[in-house]
Amino acid sequence: MYSLVFLGILGSLIGSFANVVIHRLPQRRSVAFPASHCPHCHHRLSPLELVPVFSWLVLGGRCRSCKKRISFRYPLIELIMAAGFVLLALRWPVEQHGPALLPLLIIFAMLVIMAAIDIDHYILPDSLTLPAIFVGVLGTLLYSSGSGLPDLLEALTGAVVGAGIVVLINRVGGLVLRKFHDTKERLWPIGMDQVNLAALGGAVGGLLAGIALALFATLLNLLSKKTLRLKEPLIYSLLVPALLLSTTGLLVKPLTAITGSLGATGAIAILGAVYWWLRDTLVQGTPHDQETDEEPVAMGFGDVKLAAVLGAILGWEKLLIALFLSFLIGALGGIISRLMGGSRFVPFGPYLVFGGLLALFLGDLFLNWYLGLLGMA
Ligand SMILES: [Zn+2]
Repeated sequence: MYSLVFLGILGSLIGSFANVVIHRLPQRRSVAFPASHCPHCHHRLSPLELVPVFSWLVLGGRCRSCKKRISFRYPLIELIMAAGFVLLALRWPVEQHGPALLPLLIIFAMLVIMAAIDIDHYILPDSLTLPAIFVGVLGTLLYSSGSGLPDLLEALTGAVVGAGIVVLINRVGGLVLRKFHDTKERLWPIGMDQVNLAALGGAVGGLLAGIALALFATLLNLLSKKTLRLKEPLIYSLLVPALLLSTTGLLVKPLTAITGSLGATGAIAILGAVYWWLRDTLVQGTPHDQETDEEPVAMGFGDVKLAAVLGAILGWEKLLIALFLSFLIGALGGIISRLMGGSRFVPFGPYLVFGGLLALFLGDLFLNWYLGLLGMA
């Protein structure tokens, strides 16, 4: 009981800090300095004004100095964070699961921040998504058996399959939007060409074949100092016969071909993302920005990395539930927003986060129900 009260208070404090991160991270400003201040008059907040939720209520949602309105979003984020921390502690009590709660709390906080930044700026920053994948995969080492959480291998599989599914939606959706013309994206030494090759190689020979083919293409780029590329429409028209080849039983089984293609695609997409993120962070010069993408795409690549985060904490089975719920809720949200006359584009990231959290808490229920339908439980 005391631990729940403690986690609720901790959650609201983390929520208060999250508000700062949500506000400042997209502007590449320090999250530590300067101290929190009113966004309108820059009045510096006193310790009492920093008390989560209550300060907003006591001050009637207005700045104490300039009396301008302070958005309801601030206490809302603090409340969501507190509620999430308590729910996670109820589902995975510390007494029973020990340190397993820690990575879950960290990832939950990061997911809430990502969703809010995506709503504000339509971006999912690499500095949040990539570390969250890392925490999600390594966090499995703290999980106890019987927690219903994935082990290391399941988390890795979930991460690459999750990324792979969203990459393929992105590429195939992009091809349709471009009326099957080739992409203009060119990145050296590792970029979309390698991701596409991984999809094809994985479909022909399974996961390792896909990864090997993409790495071989990267090596060729490095050795030739050129960007060797195959046109995207060609690769994706070869993908169908490659998958059909698996039904003949000559090379790999159909399931190996599908999971191999998705997994290799996701693995190379994450590897490429990590490379470009490290390069942009460590090497000074013209910054490469994946988000400034001139071409019409079905989903941004930030969603690819977010799907990998969800795959890492859910494992691939519950990840499929999460993706299904996200698309369903996203479609409903889109329809409702149209009916209410809302024209503002709503990014997909928040729906992914919501679907992922539903699958985290209720995934076992959905799985048992589904297996029951199939007569397998
Ligand atoms: Zn003010």
